[in-house]
Amino acid sequence: MDVVNRTGPIVVLGSANMDLVTRQPRLPEPGETMTGSDFSTGAGGKGLNQAVAARRAGAEVAFAGAVGDDGFGRELRAFLEGERIATDALRTSAAPTGIAQVSVLDGGENSIVIVAGANGEEELTDGDRALIASAAALVVQLERPLALVERALAAGRQAEALTVLTPAPVDAEAARLLPLVDILVPNESEALALSGASDVETAARRLSAEAGTVIVTRGSKGALIARGGDIVAAVAAREVEAVDTTGAGDTFVGVLVAWLTRGEPLEAAVEAATAAAAIAVTRPGAAPAMPTREEIDAALE
Ligand code: ATP
Repeated sequence: MDVVNRTGPIVVLGSANMDLVTRQPRLPEPGETMTGSDFSTGAGGKGLNQAVAARRAGAEVAFAGAVGDDGFGRELRAFLEGERIATDALRTSAAPTGIAQVSVLDGGENSIVIVAGANGEEELTDGDRALIASAAALVVQLERPLALVERALAAGRQAEALTVLTPAPVDAEAARLLPLVDILVPNESEALALSGASDVETAARRLSAEAGTVIVTRGSKGALIARGGDIVAAVAAREVEAVDTTGAGDTFVGVLVAWLTRGEPLEAAVEAATAAAAIAVTRPGAAPAMPTREEIDAALE
């Protein structure tokens, strides 16, 4: 199923992290203290990013996640509320708020350490279940425990919500989730790892024999759509001057689901997602780079 007939919010069940970003010439050696040149913090995590993308694209969005009882947790909650994303299912856990420590090296490469903290909460609460039961679509990724994601997908399937999975960070065990997934959106390397195939077409075909529709995103090469074991379309990316591709995939998924829950067909939703991700890569950052519905509509004209 990839046509949405149900009303209700998009429920994103996923991670919320505080990104702690330093800029430095290189990584320090063990035991070394070095001086960096810049520091910034920002709201992040694949779950939070996808929720922001869908909300900015005009959808009603609720975020089901967990933060710690600490300053970062309060900041993330306030950030989501500022985006007008419902936070009734955002739990305060005993564990600290998840963080991503991002070292941007002078050569432009990033090294990232993630500490899951509160994102490691495994339980699907009654509140989460009630929210999923009211959802038009459930969107999940793999920065929360696999067992939690599996329970959420089963609840989404039972509620007849559209179930959408981004299998990142990729985990071979996630293959068992595929029968619960209506739309699977891996990038190229995730598609290869999850399917065991050595080329992306075979990967897309193989994965779509188990999940409903598979959309493999391929960066500046666009996306490949497969269904029922066959490739059904290849969609070109838009030609833009990319400055920062962080969060391109999350923008793509959020906008895709926003369009689908408005009753748009898959092809139109992929076109909007492609246009939105192309806008996002021309701006720095992940969530801050995500376009509004007006910007996406203008790009589609
Ligand atoms: P990330 O992990 O950085 O969020 P990803 O690896 O999950 O990204 P990609 O496949 O790189 O996802 O990109 C998702 C979509 O974004 C692509 O299908 C494409 O539509 C768009 N996109 C990404 N990079 C570019 C680019 N350089 N130019 C135009 N569009 C792009």
